Amino acid sequence: MRFARKRQALIAAALRMNSLGLNQGKSGNLSLRVCDGLLITPSGMDYDRLVPADIVFMTADGQVPPGQRKPSSEWRFHVDILNARPEAGAIVHAHALHCTAIACLRRPIPAFHYMVAVAGGDTIRCADYATFGTQDLSAAALAALEGRTACLLANHGMIALGATLDAALALAVEVETLAAMYGQALQIGDPVILLAEEMRIILDKFRTYGRQEV
Ligand code: 13P
Ligand code: ZN
Repeated sequence: MRFARKRQALIAAALRMNSLGLNQGKSGNLSLRVCDGLLITPSGMDYDRLVPADIVFMTADGQVPPGQRKPSSEWRFHVDILNARPEAGAIVHAHALHCTAIACLRRPIPAFHYMVAVAGGDTIRCADYATFGTQDLSAAALAALEGRTACLLANHGMIALGATLDAALALAVEVETLAAMYGQALQIGDPVILLAEEMRIILDKFRTYGRQEV
């Protein structure tokens, strides 16, 4: 079977997405770039029953060679994001509890905490609402991801990108943590938003932060 180890890695990441509490049940989906296309989770299947042959290979232009499961209903945004963002090697989409709660208000996560810069800007945007699985949702997600590596999806969930599956999952955890903190802060008051100038300083520091020499 082609990409056997990468298929296994995608299944492991799907299981991890749920064990990390980022997602519940069959919701959400993940993809991984391969040389001539992408691997993506199948639509509507329990992650804990997946075997490598259930993972779907798609070409970079969104075709599914025959004899495979149906790909995730969100294959359009996975294909479009991987094509638009060459630095992304993997995409995680989850119905993460706290991200989704904020996305149901159709609000971005503002710079209430400096770590908002982890997704590449001074806000984590919320994509306009569109029906799941549509080209409109893909367009809305791509717009919200402009210059960013994560976004919320109105009345739906969130997306995080990374060079690897581990990086995309780690970013999803950071964004979900920020969403939880923001939700808590909103419950007790009116969070103070950091100034744009301060966020520019943070974004600059993030270019080198965490890089150890040895
Ligand atoms: P799939 O099971 O088709 O991937 O759909 C889950 C989902 O989250 C749709 O937005
Ligand atoms: Zn979804």
